[in-house]
Amino acid sequence: MIKMKNVTMAYDGVNPALDEINLQVDRGEFVFLVGPSGSGKSTLIKLLIRELVPTKGEIFIAGHDVVHMKTKKVHLLRRNVGCVFQDFKLLPNKTAYENVAFALEVIGKPEHAIKVQAPEVLKLVGLNGKFDRYPGELSGGEQQRVSLARAFVNRPPLLLADEPTGNLDPNISLEIMSLLDRINKTGTTVLMATHDREMVNNVRKRVVALEHGKLIRDQARGVYGYED
Ligand code: ADP
Repeated sequence: MIKMKNVTMAYDGVNPALDEINLQVDRGEFVFLVGPSGSGKSTLIKLLIRELVPTKGEIFIAGHDVVHMKTKKVHLLRRNVGCVFQDFKLLPNKTAYENVAFALEVIGKPEHAIKVQAPEVLKLVGLNGKFDRYPGELSGGEQQRVSLARAFVNRPPLLLADEPTGNLDPNISLEIMSLLDRINKTGTTVLMATHDREMVNNVRKRVVALEHGKLIRDQARGVYGYED
């Protein structure tokens, strides 16, 4: 699902934020991407959705060459890669339902399909009864649920999450984690960047660790493993 070969990203052309990264993630895996602040986690995620182009190296998503992809094809890549972020990135003037529906409208889904899929996925993330709330009327955990619903409504084969629990209380973080786990169990590959030591240590999934832009550890059922 993800293949990175000798990927280096230097924003200034000299100092690498990511240095010679080699990573393979197979279809259906769940991977934690851990590392201290500034170690390159967000940069790696941005490279996977072609928000950035690497200085060097090759990146393939589901066999597609992301580095050499024509700009006009990038929207097709993003259609297949759901994304959630620490700060939710919801549209404040749209309700929970409208935020999810909008993600389908922009890819040209017909109205009748949206009317089935949007409520279905909002129920899946546990937002029954809150479809008409605006983001400002929802708790942080609920906003992240909307954001997950939006990322997953098109059933992408790959879901990337950049510190999705970074702004949430520990018990709410666990609920978001178990939703990501459920999504993973439907066959979606999940890559989650996180700082959350306790969660990583409790859940015991594959852990890929970055430090100063280098991949320093890749463990099948790993632990967080930093002293910070
Ligand atoms: P993390 O997500 O692990 O906190 P980042 O990928 O955000 O790490 O950052 C990795 C390194 O790249 C840091 O040294 C950071 O300062 C640098 N960096 C991130 N974004 C930019 C940018 N837009 N321009 C220049 N340097 C950046």
